[in-house]
Amino acid sequence: MKYQKPHLDKQFEEELEPLCAAIALYADMRCQVLFGCELTVTSVFREKTTDSGIHALLRAVDMDNDKDLTPEQKQELCDMINDIFVYDVGRKNFKVCKYHSVGGTWGGDHLHIQIHPATRQRIYPK
Ligand SMILES: [Zn+2]
Repeated sequence: MKYQKPHLDKQFEEELEPLCAAIALYADMRCQVLFGCELTVTSVFREKTTDSGIHALLRAVDMDNDKDLTPEQKQELCDMINDIFVYDVGRKNFKVCKYHSVGGTWGGDHLHIQIHPATRQRIYPK
């Protein structure tokens, strides 16, 4: 796993919610195994603006690899994470991973990984 900017490694390791960091590390590991390349952390903490504010709560991390991954491969990683982790069993419309183009540091599509106090690993992954 790589960091787009030097300060992001400290934020990731010392401030990001540990479960969120663990899921991000898992996504990077799967990316390396499946696609032979690493993910890059592009954003951890951000002040709340027009978004949900979840980055300001240190419960979300953005990851990308614009150079080596196709949109289909990013979507595959996203689906894989959501097959394993459930954001909040009471609110099934919320997902742990979103593949979208909102708020990305590189301005493009990226993986947004987020957690909630209710986030759990599925007992029986899909
Ligand atoms: Zn995000």
